[in-house]
Amino acid sequence: MVKKPPFVAGNWKMHLTMGEAKGLATAIVKVSADLAGAEIVLAPPFTALGEVKKVLEGSPVRLAAQNLFWEEKGAFTGEVSAPMLRDSGCQYVIIGHSERRQYFGETDDGVNRKIKAALKSGVFPIFCVGETLSERESGQTMDVISRQLQGGLDSIGAGVLKSIVIAYEPVWAIGTGKTATPDQAEEVHSRIREKLALKYGNGTAECAIILYGGSVKPTNSFALLSEKNIDGFLVGGASLEAESFVQIVREAIRAYKEKK
Ligand code: PEP
Repeated sequence: MVKKPPFVAGNWKMHLTMGEAKGLATAIVKVSADLAGAEIVLAPPFTALGEVKKVLEGSPVRLAAQNLFWEEKGAFTGEVSAPMLRDSGCQYVIIGHSERRQYFGETDDGVNRKIKAALKSGVFPIFCVGETLSERESGQTMDVISRQLQGGLDSIGAGVLKSIVIAYEPVWAIGTGKTATPDQAEEVHSRIREKLALKYGNGTAECAIILYGGSVKPTNSFALLSEKNIDGFLVGGASLEAESFVQIVREAIRAYKEKK
């Protein structure tokens, strides 16, 4: 297995005014020199991208958006394109988050178009997959994940997979306080890597960054990241406070250092 520095992204969802976002980003940047060895990414709401970009300038912390539309420009009221994100300083964009699939009707085909649009503009997708509780309970977890992976990565070649971060986020663990156990998460992560190996070959699959998301906290991040196939986290609630987010990054770095 290729060991990769931990990747920790904070998804601020529809929270924080510009002033609040600036404050949170400033607190994280202040300690970022101590967090060397991790790739840290912050995803504020669109309205705060500009403020947060200014704070991140000159720091190792990267900027992400939470969504995009696949067209470059046009009469698409309310939408934001990949070139616009690039222009706003985003290096990453979250695509296919379960809240977008659930509340905004995003489909695997739409996710695939968004991934391609992001890549075309040089913005790295953080591509989310995950099963609901009823899908897990009826034994469909891997069918759902396989379908989402297949659809989202349709006609995407091995050469560009290295520009895509995959996030496994069981829907039943998002914002619920219920975390997948390290074993549950590792089981799905290893199966995701197997699927990637079948499609792209072992070397490419081993290099892929696969994040876990779903009620990650400072108290569970060490055990999760100690698992072989867990390369980092997509953090929602706990990323809204500098202290808990930074502690998650520290625990991830500690687990990485001890990882074989
Ligand atoms: C998320 O929104 O991607 C997420 C994982 O949220 P939470 O950490 O709050 O479960």
